[in-house]
This record gives sequence, C-alpha cells and structure tokens, in this order.
Amino acid sequence: MTHALTLNAGSSSLKFGLFELGADDPALIASGKADRVGGDATLTLKDAAGAKLIDAAAIPAEGVVDHHEALAAALKALLDHFPVAQINTVGHRVVHGGLDHSGPAVLTPGIIDKLSQLSPFAPLHQPHNLAGVRAAMAAFPKAVQVACFDTAFHRHHPFVNDVFALPREYYDKGVRRYGFHGLSYDYISGELARIAPDLHAGRVVVAHLGNGASMCGMRGGRSVASSMGFSALDGLPMGTRTGQLDPGVLLYLLQQEGLSVEQIITLLYKKSGLLGLSGISHDMRTLEASDSEAAQQAIAYYTFRARRELGGLAAALEGLDGVVFCGGIGENSRLIRERICDGLHWIGIEIDDDANAANAPVISRQNAPVKVMVIPTNEELVIARACATLGKRGA
Ligand code: ADP
Repeated sequence: MTHALTLNAGSSSLKFGLFELGADDPALIASGKADRVGGDATLTLKDAAGAKLIDAAAIPAEGVVDHHEALAAALKALLDHFPVAQINTVGHRVVHGGLDHSGPAVLTPGIIDKLSQLSPFAPLHQPHNLAGVRAAMAAFPKAVQVACFDTAFHRHHPFVNDVFALPREYYDKGVRRYGFHGLSYDYISGELARIAPDLHAGRVVVAHLGNGASMCGMRGGRSVASSMGFSALDGLPMGTRTGQLDPGVLLYLLQQEGLSVEQIITLLYKKSGLLGLSGISHDMRTLEASDSEAAQQAIAYYTFRARRELGGLAAALEGLDGVVFCGGIGENSRLIRERICDGLHWIGIEIDDDANAANAPVISRQNAPVKVMVIPTNEELVIARACATLGKRGA
C-alpha cells in the first residue's frame, strides 16, 4: 500500500493530509496543520473522521520554527500515529503556475526554478509554497514531488477574460487575469459531473466563499471566467482583502496619503474586506452574530458585490443553469446564501428556505429555472488524485 502526503504551505501555516492510494479514489487517513510557522508554532493532527489526535501542541525548536521544522514535526506526528505510512508521493498546492501549466506537474529542478521566477506575481504565497517544496524534497529525497496550481484550472480563458486593457507588452510579459482557487473549482467540476451531469454540461457559477473568496463561471465543466485576476485580491470582498478596487485609490494612497508599498500591501491583504469594513472581525460567524451597524453594513456590501459578480459571470456565460456554493461561508451560512440569492430572482434563482436552512445539497425550489447547490469542496483530495496519477508516472 502506498501513501501520498499533501501539503499546503502558507506564510505562517502548513496544512497537510495523508492519503492512502489504491485502486479507488485516494482515501484520507489523517490531516493536520502547523500554525504560527515563523514563530512559536503549534501542531494539530486529526484522524479521517475529524477527531483530534494532537491538539495545538507546541512544536519544540531552538528558535523560531521554519517550514522545514514544521514539516519534520508533522511527519513525526503522522508516523507516530500511522507507522505503516509509505509516503512515495508528495503533492503541493502551488498558487501560481504561470502560463506553462494547465494541469498538475511532476516537479523537476527546472520547473521549480521557473516557478520561483513567478514569485513577484504572487509574493505573499509563491515563496512559501516553494519553501514547502524544498522542505519536502529534503525530508523525502526519493519521493515524487507533484505541484497542483491554483491557476491551472483557468488557463483556457478566452482572450477577453485573460487580458487587461494595458499596453500589449504587459500581456506578453504575463500581466494577465490568471484566476485562483482552481483546486476547489476542479473538485466541484468533478462532483457536478458525478452528481449533476446536466449542470456540468451547462453554464454554472461556482461561488467559493471562504476566508479568500472568488467566483468562477464554468461551461461544460471548464472555467470561462473568474472574479479573481492577476492577484488573489480582485473580485469579491474577502475576510481581510479588498476585492475589486479602483486602481485610482492606489494612486491616492501612494501620492496623497504617502503610504509605502509595504503599508499598502498590508492594507489590501490584511486590513480590508470584512475586517476593514466592520472594524470587528474578518470572521463571518462573528459578524452574523453582531448587532453592530458596521458589521451589518459589511455583510450588506459582501452580499451586494457577490450578486454583482454573479450577474456579471452569468453574462459572460450567456445564461445560467446552476449555482454552486462552497467554502466555509458558502457551505455553512444560510444567511449569506439567502442574501445573495434574494436579489437574483430576475435571473431565475429561487431559494427554498427549509432546504437552505438545512445546508441541503440542493437549495433551489423544485421548478426554479436555476438549480442552486451546496457542495463541500475538497482541495486536498484534488492534490491526492494528482499524486495518484502522476506519482506512478514520475516513479
Ligand atoms: P479558508 O479560506 O481559510 O480555507 P474557510 O473555507 O474555512 O477558510 O472559511 C472560513 C470562513 O467561513 C469564515 O469567515 C467563517 O466565519 C465562515 N464560516 C464557517 N462556518 C460558518 C457558519 N456556520 N456560518 C457563517 N460563516 C461560517
């Protein structure tokens, strides 16, 4: 029996999953997370049913814990609890695959080098993803290392959804609308093919609403347009990110407010979105529970922008057959789904209140023109599947 380790390395966290690879779909054995990497990190490990085997235990280290030490601690924990694990493939979530990758790839020194050249396109994610790759290569020198790119699912966008109206040289340099959250959309596309083939063949907007949030317009299971563009900042407002912003605001912040580039990065990525608008929290549950006017306004803006984006994507798809909600908010928040859908009766979206309250798989009314579904996403499984396919080829 062979196993795959999936890794999702962020700036201060390392999420991991252990999967058994067999004849069928990869089976989750355990998952976990190292938090506060780069500081006094902790480790949590859960079994496949979600029961905690290790709960936020401190990772011992001389100084701050880096990605190598976090991975070593994760591995030790996994092998202590699952000593039979034979990890021969490691799958990585890599935010940016640039123009070259429209699917997962077995990592070679040449590809890793090219991926590091994309770091300026995703400075807050790509270097950390690659730190995870290096840590895994050191820990598993014989394993096949597979990269799964958040941009890959969107690589076939038509030109008009791929371009900005800048001088053409920027397009040629790669300043394009890449789109992100591709692993989640890939999973949802696969689920639609399995459980709702009519929708899969049709025009669907998938709303991935988590801490990061985006929407993807799909036709025939493939991405036609995405709300995210060059960076993971564009489109919908998020937990702490702005979403779409008039670039004139950036000029104002630079010229009139005298903010440094670093300050602007922090403002746009860490201090805006639901947190910035509410002044209370980035967390939708906290805002839903709050009776403060600012919290309610943040929710109102969030749902209004989601409706606008959904309408825009329906136009890009030239019609709409279905909507899928996923991500922490999309899968769990009856209120947000209701508020987004409430303004979209004109496009054929009608919600069944009881089904919506129950987070049911189908939440639209029976005869409504547009079928609205809730499908829990599973990005790790998409990585594990790529390991199952490419691990064999690369071995
Ligand atoms: P990430 O993008 O970090 O993976 P998640 O997909 O876990 O994040 O989504 C986190 C968001 O989901 C948070 O804003 C959280 O408040 C929200 N969320 C989770 N459960 C609920 C719920 N029951 N009601 C409303 N929001 C929820």
